[in-house]
Parts: sequence; C-alpha cells; structure tokens
Amino acid sequence: MFNRRNFIRISGLSTLVGLTGIETAFGNMEKKSTKPSGKGLSLRFLPYNLQLKHTFTIANSSRNSTPDMLTCLEFDGMRGYGEASMPPYLGESIESCTKFLSSLDLSQFKDPFQMDDILRYVDSLMPGNCAAKAAVDIALHDLVGKIMGQPWYKIWGFDPADTPNTSFTIGIDTPEVVIQKVKEAAPYNILKVKLGQLTDKEMINAIRSVTDKPLCVDVNQGWTDRDKALEMIYWLKEKGVVFVEQPMPKTAIDDMAWLTAHSPLPTVADEALQRLPDVMKAHGVYSGINIKLMKCTGMREAHQMLTLAKSLGMKVMIGCMTETSCAVSAGAQLSPKADWADLDGNLLISNDPYSGMQVVGGKVTLIDKPGIGISIQQPVF
Ligand code: MG
Repeated sequence: MFNRRNFIRISGLSTLVGLTGIETAFGNMEKKSTKPSGKGLSLRFLPYNLQLKHTFTIANSSRNSTPDMLTCLEFDGMRGYGEASMPPYLGESIESCTKFLSSLDLSQFKDPFQMDDILRYVDSLMPGNCAAKAAVDIALHDLVGKIMGQPWYKIWGFDPADTPNTSFTIGIDTPEVVIQKVKEAAPYNILKVKLGQLTDKEMINAIRSVTDKPLCVDVNQGWTDRDKALEMIYWLKEKGVVFVEQPMPKTAIDDMAWLTAHSPLPTVADEALQRLPDVMKAHGVYSGINIKLMKCTGMREAHQMLTLAKSLGMKVMIGCMTETSCAVSAGAQLSPKADWADLDGNLLISNDPYSGMQVVGGKVTLIDKPGIGISIQQPVF
C-alpha cells in the first residue's frame, strides 16, 4: 500500500515545491524530491484516509472516512511522527494541508531543541491551518522526546498514575440504538452523551434504563434558552451527569456566563475555544475547557493552555478528533493533569498504522516509550 515512491521530502537545500509539483511528486517521487542535507530538519508528509469502523452521521450528512495527513520529521537519523486529522466541518483539507506543509522550510533549523523558534516560525507562516501546524508540532515533540530518551509526560513532570478515565461517546439516536451502544461501551467507566435535540430526556432515560455509570453530556451548542438550559442541567444532575459541554451557542457569551454562575454542574467550552488567548476569554464564562491538539496547533500550545486554565482554577478536558494512535497518544501525554479525557478517536478507525496509548479498565494508560510513545504497526514512511 505504501512505498518510498509516495514520499514527499521538504528538506535540505530543496527548492520549495508548489502544490502542483507535490501532486505530481506522489506519482514520480524520484524526479521531484530532493535528498535531505543531513543538517537541518527534514519533513515528509503523506495523505492518509482514515477508514471509520462505523458510518458517522451528523445533521444532514454522513461519512465513512476522515482525511488525514501523516508527517515524519527527521534529524540526524532520528524520526518523529505527527498527523493532521481534518474532519470536513473544520475547514482544512488535504489540499490546504499540502499547501501549508509544502511552504515550510524547516531545513533552516539545525537544532530541534529550539522548539519555541521552530513552532513560532510554523505558526507565523499563515493564519489558520491549525491541524497542519499540529502535524509539525507533534512530530517535533516525538523527535525531541526520542533524542532525550523520555516520554513527554515525564519531561513535563507528570505522574502517569494520575491519568483520568476516558469517555466513550454515544451519539443521538433512537432508544433502541442508544441501549445497544451502551452495551458496546462496557469497558468504559464514563459515557459521553450527545444532546441538543427534543429527545434529550428520552436519550438519558434510555441510558439510565441499562446503566448507572457516570455520564457527561455534549450539547454542541444545541440549547438556545438559558432558563430552559438551567432547568435541564438540574434534571441532568439528578440523573448522574457530571458536566455539560458547550450547552449554548459559542456566541451567547452573556447567557453562558449566567448559566455557569447558576449551574449545579461544571460547564465546558469546546466550540467556543480554540487557542491559548481563548482561555482567558472562557474564564468566568465556562467552568472548564476542552483542549484538542487539532484545534490549538499541537502539544506545545495545549500544554500552555492546560497550565493557564489550571492557574485560573478552571477544569480541563483533553479531547481529540477521529485520529490515529499518533495524535491520540500525543494528547494523552497531557492527560495526567486533566480532569477528564475524551481520547477514543483511534478506536473509531480500522486502519491505524500506529499503536500507543491504551485504554485499560476504562482509564488512559500511557506507554513508557520516548517521545509520544507510539510503535509502528504498518510502516508508512
Ligand atoms: Mg464537543
């Protein structure tokens, strides 16, 4: 499926290749690529279609795959791996990611430990492109961790015993399907229920007919009336729900601040928050934040967000997209300091080329391997 002909190298003294050149290069790598100099950082990347185990349905569309870009950052014979997962609704694509990664010249950096300078350069090149930036950031962390011979949770000083349980998501569906999904979620200790429709109470009652496990709910901005939202949160608390994610539209800031002030359960910002400056904006409006590497450009900024949110007394959740074990394991490095984790993205796909973080007894379980702690199951680079 993969061979060296598929590689793209942005390396050494190579002339930056435009999008058209890259597309051609997939079919004829020998002509288009250049050899790494062996001095600076060398980045390669490869589109990879994540095959979903189950059809993913939202509103009026459904899909069976998620576009993804796998990256490999090489320095002095060592390799770090990263990825960009690009669910269509977030606005990035294989085309935009290829364009962004092609425009980088990482060969100018001769020392991978200068992570601040490297990632500042990557971030400054173009606005947006957060998943593409995360693909570089994760690969750099993996590389630097491997050079140091340590996993990032250790470099950051976290205790792997402190990892939280990860939730398993139950989508909006009929009571019969919901009950079936709850049975499939037997290995998990906390269930994340998607709400935001007229059937919210029906969903919760169906789940409660078969399990007493703690629940959290993700409303995805679905409630628009703050009084009704508060009433619903009181009802959910009685039903054993522990927090409510993005209950109201991200633009309803005043209503959200009021709701959080009156809510008997913590509220968590997801759609309302993307990067580091958003943490301050969420303070006083939400009780906590959902950090996702693909939203915030990767591990470096995620760590900064975690530190800031904790210093402000906010709750932190580490989430993910549909991803391989690469990005999920990268996010998991932060999880010992998180209150909650929603790291099930790799379990939703059938063609994961890596293995890494495991869910054992429902709990995020870190692997004592350098970098982001992954092993290659199917060679891609
Ligand atoms: Mg969410």
